[in-house]
Amino acid sequence: MVTLFGATLADGRVRDVVLCDGRIGVLRAPGRRIQRPSAGLDLAGYLLLPAPAEPHVHLDRALRRQPVGSVSGGRDDAWRSWRVGPVRYHPGDLRRRSREMLRALAVRGVTAVRTQLDVGGRTPLRAVEVLAELGAEFRRVLDVQIVAVPVPGTPERTIVDAVSAGARVLGGRPGGAADCRQEIRRLLRLADRAEVGLDLHLDDGFDPRLLAVGDLARLLRASGFDRPVTASHLTGLNRLAPAALSRVAETIAAAGLRVVALPSDRGCGLPIRELLAAGVTVAAGGDHLRDAGHPMGRADPLATAAATGLPPGSAWATVAGHARDVLGLEPGGLAPGAPADLLAVRAPSLAEALRTRPGDRVTIRAGRVSTRAVRRTRVRTAA
Ligand SMILES: [Zn+2]
Repeated sequence: MVTLFGATLADGRVRDVVLCDGRIGVLRAPGRRIQRPSAGLDLAGYLLLPAPAEPHVHLDRALRRQPVGSVSGGRDDAWRSWRVGPVRYHPGDLRRRSREMLRALAVRGVTAVRTQLDVGGRTPLRAVEVLAELGAEFRRVLDVQIVAVPVPGTPERTIVDAVSAGARVLGGRPGGAADCRQEIRRLLRLADRAEVGLDLHLDDGFDPRLLAVGDLARLLRASGFDRPVTASHLTGLNRLAPAALSRVAETIAAAGLRVVALPSDRGCGLPIRELLAAGVTVAAGGDHLRDAGHPMGRADPLATAAATGLPPGSAWATVAGHARDVLGLEPGGLAPGAPADLLAVRAPSLAEALRTRPGDRVTIRAGRVSTRAVRRTRVRTAA
């Protein structure tokens, strides 16, 4: 049993929070007698939040400061380099960069991460195998969930093998295929065969003729596919007139399709408010972590939430509750019985935390302190 003393909640109340068996036990006003001796952590001056989850990053490409391949320059160049095929990773380099990013995510408060990983090329399963290993290494700190993203030309057998190697979700970029609808049908069939959900890059604005999310929602309903399906990016929705956007948002909601916005990505304009108003689950993620797509990307959930432009509570829900929903995790929250996955950040309010993004943070995973960062310089990680 651990007690967090004097934490400020998002609604401004100050509470002692007792954690027991990986869950929140009770929240009580400070100063009341402790019934049983318990380990304690003084959180005076800290805001206590449900821990964020990161629903969309590319750990295999993270920390590659040089653009992938030989291209340089703008975002279109970066995208073209992504489409030519998987990078041939040296396993040691991939392990080193991924481990560094997982530590960084944990220190920023993330207790679960979904990473997209390329599958294909000469060593098609390398990234999946390395991240599956790291997932086991970091299991006490954060949950690593792998999405296998087949590059063009990857055999179907290899895609299914990626699930055996540790992928929990099938990804894809149907917009890059000659026939987008046909590719969506193929991926639905493959996901069904591998008995996993889908998480697709869709309508990211690189092909302005496409608007595939409506097709996905309709094909989903017609197929009877009953596992979770997520679509990321969807910046193409921004081109729609309000009435057309409203119709597409209703179609997405009716299909139960979850959406991941990537607001830190350059040029992102996904209409988050309209989708939320239609009842769609909209999570927000970091996408690029100092790679060709965004050399400054940090995947800090406080920055991601702030970039949504939503009011503080709704902004935090996109990186916490909605993100957990995308990852298929039990809902979090600051209530008795909820999983004790929490982030304490030194700030007087949620609005101030989003504005200043303090480095002083304590991450609590399953009821125990997993990482603690103080004054941006002293970092201790219990990996
Ligand atoms: Zn992505």
